[in-house]
Amino acid sequence: MKKLGFGLMRLPVTDKQDPKSIDMAELERMVDTFLERGYTYFDTAWMYHDHQSEIAIREALVKRHPRDAFTLTTKLPTMALKEEGDQERIFEEQRQKCGVEFFDYYLLHNMNRRVYETVERLDSFGFARRLKEEGKIRRIGFSFHDNAQFLDQLLTEHPEAEFVQLQINYLDWESERVQSRLCYETAVRHGKKVIVMEPVKGGALAQLPADAEALLKTADPDASVASWAVRFAASLPEVHVVLSGMSSMAQLEDNTTFMSDFKPLTKDERAMLARCADIINNYTAVPCTACRYCTEGCPMGIDIPTILAMYNESAKAKLLRAWRDPGKEKYDEFVKDHAKASDCVACRQCEGACPQHLGVVKALADAAAAFEN
Ligand code: SF4
Ligand code: SF4
Repeated sequence: MKKLGFGLMRLPVTDKQDPKSIDMAELERMVDTFLERGYTYFDTAWMYHDHQSEIAIREALVKRHPRDAFTLTTKLPTMALKEEGDQERIFEEQRQKCGVEFFDYYLLHNMNRRVYETVERLDSFGFARRLKEEGKIRRIGFSFHDNAQFLDQLLTEHPEAEFVQLQINYLDWESERVQSRLCYETAVRHGKKVIVMEPVKGGALAQLPADAEALLKTADPDASVASWAVRFAASLPEVHVVLSGMSSMAQLEDNTTFMSDFKPLTKDERAMLARCADIINNYTAVPCTACRYCTEGCPMGIDIPTILAMYNESAKAKLLRAWRDPGKEKYDEFVKDHAKASDCVACRQCEGACPQHLGVVKALADAAAAFEN
């Protein structure tokens, strides 16, 4: 199987403020092109696009192509589980939403220390094993957002996991918080295949500060900035698939072109990306990936990732001593009909949901201080 997978978390939309407004005509064209070029792996989840991603892929892929032409992955939403019947009910809904009899890969979604107690209480791994015995899923795994020490514990206690999905990109490779390298090495030590998520870090590695971009363009003027990030992850030998959350045909065409003639990074190229990471880290105030896991439960309806993106843009403009502050300009416009950063009541629901373990309350307070005073 080719090493590029189609992540279905950031699909094309007709209204950027409405994740449900999936552009189905564009998605169908993208799915068809992806398959025509020999790629087969699709990754969705229960709550992507406000619970519409699974339905969208049924319409664009499952209903329009033979079942043996693609590999479909979805995930049990561990964060939504409360009682035992939830697992069966959600799984059956997922089969209906996706329109399939079985899933090729089924993941326990967003495993971390916080949800592990629920996963053990409800015997979610046992549930997945039963699904596999009944032929309703082909492979068991989990996506993971915690540190390498906990990954080691999890893989020791649940050797039935056949693969792990990890956040790996050149910015997080040596990060203390995400521990991409340590997690990858732990998975390899346990003999697991690795699926990579967030190789472009929610799009952050597709738009770099000018000095970081200049490094990449000097090395190869024709390669897109994002291609370096995808190639970084795909160059790791135990990586089975790299998921790219493609939002447009242009992104899909770029990805499928350089990945069809895939060249692993050289040692010098890896060193160059480490230098890029240092530059980017200097510019990033809050490393939010815009996954939106935090937004659904916010009692104040705050669009957290959008505000954090504006705050990052503003912080970067200040660092560069730019004469304009586009982050502040966007914020002033945005809050005319959306909740403000200062509406946060510090309930910390978002911090519990955030796979990046971000201090959202403080970041919003900083954004409020920067934008509203
Ligand atoms: S802490 Fe603030 S932003 Fe986070 S969920 Fe609560 S009100 Fe919303
Ligand atoms: S704050 Fe955390 S959960 Fe919310 S969008 Fe950003 S990375 Fe995702």
